[in-house]
Amino acid sequence: MFDKILIANRGEIALRVLRACKELGISTVAVHSTADADAMHVRLADESVCIGPPASRDSYLNIPALLAACEITGADAVHPGYGFLSENARFAEILAEHHLHFIGPKAEHIRLMGDKIEAKRTAKRLGIPVVPGSDGGVSNPDEAAAIARDIGFPVLIKAAAGGGGRGMKVARSEADLALALSTAGAEAKAAFGDAAVYMEKYLERPRHIEIQVLGDGRGGAIHLGERDCSLQRRHQKVWEEGPSPALDAASRARIGGIVAKAMREMQYLGVGTVEFLYEDGEFYFIEMNTRIQVEHPVTEMITGIDLVLEQIRVAAGHDLPCAQEDVAIHGHAIECRVNAENPVTFRPSPGRIAQYHSPGGMGVRIDSAVYQGYFIPPYYDSLVGKLIVHGKTRSECLMRLRRALDEMVVEGIETTLPLFRALVRESAIIDGDYHIHWLEQYLDHGAPPP
Ligand code: ADP
Repeated sequence: MFDKILIANRGEIALRVLRACKELGISTVAVHSTADADAMHVRLADESVCIGPPASRDSYLNIPALLAACEITGADAVHPGYGFLSENARFAEILAEHHLHFIGPKAEHIRLMGDKIEAKRTAKRLGIPVVPGSDGGVSNPDEAAAIARDIGFPVLIKAAAGGGGRGMKVARSEADLALALSTAGAEAKAAFGDAAVYMEKYLERPRHIEIQVLGDGRGGAIHLGERDCSLQRRHQKVWEEGPSPALDAASRARIGGIVAKAMREMQYLGVGTVEFLYEDGEFYFIEMNTRIQVEHPVTEMITGIDLVLEQIRVAAGHDLPCAQEDVAIHGHAIECRVNAENPVTFRPSPGRIAQYHSPGGMGVRIDSAVYQGYFIPPYYDSLVGKLIVHGKTRSECLMRLRRALDEMVVEGIETTLPLFRALVRESAIIDGDYHIHWLEQYLDHGAPPP
């Protein structure tokens, strides 16, 4: 096992990793920018190192500063959390060159899945069903038109280097194609430095369903069921739950089995998520994330498996915690991402938290790094914390969530709590009857979509 882990992240995920390290008896090193000197992960870590000024590129993305921090503290492994350097294959390689362990997949797998065109090709080769679309990249409107005629409109132009929903444009007819291609390409170039785009059939009312996997890197891999992340705004997840209200045990076992087999073939190491759109009983692969995800607690609550702890254990060469047949799903869990944003305009609302009270009681979990008096800096994401609620059934979970949301107090800044308090009382949500466009329609109409 590792002796000392440097956590190359901030906020709630840094704290989450720190908790797993403490339980494993591993020493921790926090790194922070000058804006995060008072952060909770810094206060709770065994040691901390300031790695630069507030801007992420000068601190949390600053590889030389992170290497120096490892050198100074004698850390032997780095946990990247999510975001920042977590899906940077080069970072994983540089760590290896310095005899440091990267707690994550093999660099080749990060690189493969980071290119969404290659990822789709690989998925197809491994027997995972994919969204109909272009075989590789598309570069000109004529080529795009030919493919669109084949798969049918509407189509979606997506960035090969995509992430966070950027560089995606819908074309409803041939007349829209040229503009969609050039704007998606320009957006991709600006956001990722890579203008390559590809094309997919645009699904009108799918759900977003993702399968959690865990691999030992030696050909052993299990799946831990699904999370339904269909409630999104601008392709960003807002509310996640598991199991999906749309799946039964047989479809879960079918898609989970396909995914786990693919991971065994790849000899995948660590945690990962294979994302699908699900419509009319069919699954369509969209991408794979090769890191721990924001919504991982949903799976932890229903399987009882600590994903971050297991991620560290397999990175150190340990075996998987159990066999596939020993994975059991218990009850239901829902996660709400509470952001420091205006609940109507979604404008970020950084600032000082004047009053804070986190809900508690049976089945209620808060993953957050804020506290009363904490100042949410304007430089990073606007997550205040994740409220995760577990119940024996979905209806018990909803009942508990309603109560927990009413109990939670965050004052001094604006938050999205009022949105969740409204959502948890909506009949479509209570019925589990929603799809990936539902939330935006709801927000546009100020009422449930027709
Ligand atoms: P990113 O890497 O930017 O997150 P994804 O491929 O994971 O991109 O897609 C993000 C979201 O965009 C999905 O959860 C879904 O809401 C929407 N999306 C992606 N592909 C399609 C598609 N073919 N049809 C409809 N919506 C899509």
